[in-house]
Amino acid sequence: MLIVMRHDATDEEVREVMDLVRGQGYDPKPVPGAERTAVCVLGNKNPVDPSPYESLSGVLECIRVTKAYKLVSRDTHSENSVIEVNGVRIGGDRMAIIAGPCSVESRDQLFKTAEFLASKGVKLMRGGAFKPRTSPYEFQGLGEEGLSLLGEVRSQFGLGVVTEAIDHINFDVVEEVADIVQIGARNMQNFSLLRRAGKSHKPILLKRGISATVEELLMAAEYILTGGNANVVLCERGVRTFSAHTRNTLDLSAIPVVKKLSHLPIIVDPSHAAGNREFVIPLALGAAGVGADGLIVEIHPDPEHALCDGQQSLHFETFSRLLDQLP
Ligand code: PEP
Ligand code: MN
Repeated sequence: MLIVMRHDATDEEVREVMDLVRGQGYDPKPVPGAERTAVCVLGNKNPVDPSPYESLSGVLECIRVTKAYKLVSRDTHSENSVIEVNGVRIGGDRMAIIAGPCSVESRDQLFKTAEFLASKGVKLMRGGAFKPRTSPYEFQGLGEEGLSLLGEVRSQFGLGVVTEAIDHINFDVVEEVADIVQIGARNMQNFSLLRRAGKSHKPILLKRGISATVEELLMAAEYILTGGNANVVLCERGVRTFSAHTRNTLDLSAIPVVKKLSHLPIIVDPSHAAGNREFVIPLALGAAGVGADGLIVEIHPDPEHALCDGQQSLHFETFSRLLDQLP
């Protein structure tokens, strides 16, 4: 249930509502809005009786929230959430661009990429240090050595770093370096990782699971918000279907649907959707067309020799062309 306060409700009146929620054995979550505050009631298994709240001064109305997600829903927060990282507003008026290699492979590879991105005015760089590979025999990333290289480019080039945590155990070291902690598709429903992300003071990039519905994506995000971290960026990266002409099927319809249901920003990863660099630009332009809040794109100084996802990584010149074509 959502208890909406009057626009002139005092802090004392909000506190009274929160105390009553607690007194009834539930968890109150204040949701400040531009016009008025609301208090979301969490932790109830059955519908909550609104009458004791409706009689409190300062309460405008009680709204029953029947969806399985509440804090990520537009019902509890009607305005778009904007998450600002390194001067980039994700969810604002302009598309946010994140680019970089799939994996951190070497100092040379990372510094070349960072220098190029800085020259293009791109302020957020991706690069996996811990890689969730489908096969245990594939390159697993440089781990902590990769993180320290990311830390170096962060300070040398002023880039915000986006890098993945693959379990709740390595979350601490990733969080120290990352400006945005990525949770990958294979981990969208790793609940201990989601709970740990909820305690983080860093924004989280949550990618849609390989076969996850939009509702499952939103419920995964809800785990992070209920933990206290409201800075979540969602990512559509394609889902598995019967079609095999691309690595995954980019579900562009998810963008307007998510934007209707949730206030959280959603970006698109055309690289993991396409699996082939030839199709990255058209999918990225499609994402812009359906109102995505940004893109995360894999690029590499020498994609033919990349240790991971080279076939879908753009050469620098192609990425420059994409930047030129974006609205
Ligand atoms: C990645 O971003 O490199 C990655 C592994 O993506 P996904 O989790 O979407 O497969
Ligand atoms: Mn990749």
